Amino acid sequence: MAAPEDLIGVGKKSLYAKREPVYPQKIDGRFRRLKWLVMAVTLTIYYLTPWLRWDRGPYAPDQAVLIDLAGRRFYMFGIEIWPHEFYYVTGLLVMAGIGLFLVTSVAGRAWCGYACPQTVWTDVYQHVERWIDGDRNAQIRLAKAPWGPAKVAKRMTKHAVFIAIALATGGAWIFYFADAPTLFRDFVTGQAAYVAYATVGVLAATTYILGGFMREQVCIYMCPWPRIQSAMLDEKSLIVTYKQWRGEPRSRGTKKAATLEDLGLGVGDCIDCNQCVAVCPTGIDIRNGPQVGCITCALCIDACDKVMTRIGRPRGLIDYATLDDCAIEAAGGTPKPLWKTVLRPRTIIYFAVWASIGLAMLFALGGRTRIDISAQQDRNPIYVRLSDGEIRNSYTVKVRNMEARPRQVEIALDGLAGAKAWSIDGSRESAARSTKLDVPADSVAKLKLFVAAPGSGAAKEDFSFKVRSLDDEAETASVESRFERPEAGQ
Ligand code: SF4
Ligand code: SF4
Repeated sequence: MAAPEDLIGVGKKSLYAKREPVYPQKIDGRFRRLKWLVMAVTLTIYYLTPWLRWDRGPYAPDQAVLIDLAGRRFYMFGIEIWPHEFYYVTGLLVMAGIGLFLVTSVAGRAWCGYACPQTVWTDVYQHVERWIDGDRNAQIRLAKAPWGPAKVAKRMTKHAVFIAIALATGGAWIFYFADAPTLFRDFVTGQAAYVAYATVGVLAATTYILGGFMREQVCIYMCPWPRIQSAMLDEKSLIVTYKQWRGEPRSRGTKKAATLEDLGLGVGDCIDCNQCVAVCPTGIDIRNGPQVGCITCALCIDACDKVMTRIGRPRGLIDYATLDDCAIEAAGGTPKPLWKTVLRPRTIIYFAVWASIGLAMLFALGGRTRIDISAQQDRNPIYVRLSDGEIRNSYTVKVRNMEARPRQVEIALDGLAGAKAWSIDGSRESAARSTKLDVPADSVAKLKLFVAAPGSGAAKEDFSFKVRSLDDEAETASVESRFERPEAGQ
């Protein structure tokens, strides 16, 4: 088992030791191909999503995914979230968190190894480095070589590409917050808002620094997630593991193997070729046991499988395995089938909570009305006694039309016997139990309403304002309010 200092992936060096650059070697294999796939999907989603169009009619933007801060709306394909519905966004964030717990309890740090933006962009930068500087050995040689025209040219080319990627990354982000084609035109012609340039600058700088320079240090020293994950992993979670009972004692070359055999020690499968270390993007040696520095990218599995195939030994000396299965396998038993690792009380509970939140949100989204009403009673004065003895209260009524089309609605009094209402633009002669209001598309209409009721009655009487859309859908909503009269004797 690894020494405590190894568990953070820094060996026996001080935490403040100078960083030793990592030059991961190119590798091909099933997990590398999976990483390519995840990288292609995540980057495509990130860069292309703002450019997808979604027709919402003439009164709403046609960008499929848009965080409209000025208009205080969040559009996602056919869903439009208003500020008062922010709990849907909260629900999505909670689902993402629980989903991460679920993935971690099944497959360890799969998020870190495949989908985390730091991993994806570091991977992109390392590939650029490989294309320009060559593979691991060429990079090491170039780093040690004295400065000359060739090295300067390679460094300038590499950093120019790094900066271009960083700018594209920062640039893509701002398109989520405004109409992408319009903002792109304004941005390149220098007419975009100052905040757009500042945002791109900050994001480009962080991408360049985190992906181009800091890389694995972000995972090892800065990110809190590995520490949180340590609490979520258990002996039944899949992690990348070196099967030391099979690999040890290591032998490098036939001479050492023969010596070990002569000593009756036997020879493990590990030939100490260091390929697993050479391909590791964080530069750690998985043979030292589970480490915070291991992002579970499984590239060492690809590397070791190639070595095992070459020397005619079974693959899987380094493999995805649970600590429980490792103990069983080390004792000569047969590990549990994969479905038993995936389906266990902990993962079932995570999934049940995750699915329940998702279903509740879908149910709420499917059943929500696209019209809403609120009413605020004016307090100064609370009531007015009219010349005929009736009492008048006044209210500010707001009707929210969440459809991307104008709607006419009817606002009616519910309760408060004998009362009638009229708007500030009307007259008492026009007073009735209900009044109509036109509400523009995707907006809130405000109406000042006077309500007059007989002077005899309770000092405080509850009633409701009801709103009903005057269209085929006839959606309704209501809000409770209160009518106030003078106390008896006043
Ligand atoms: S790649 Fe496999 S054989 Fe080579 S050092 Fe690593 S564990 Fe040993
Ligand atoms: S030890 Fe293996 S799984 Fe862990 S980060 Fe290195 S290559 Fe990836």
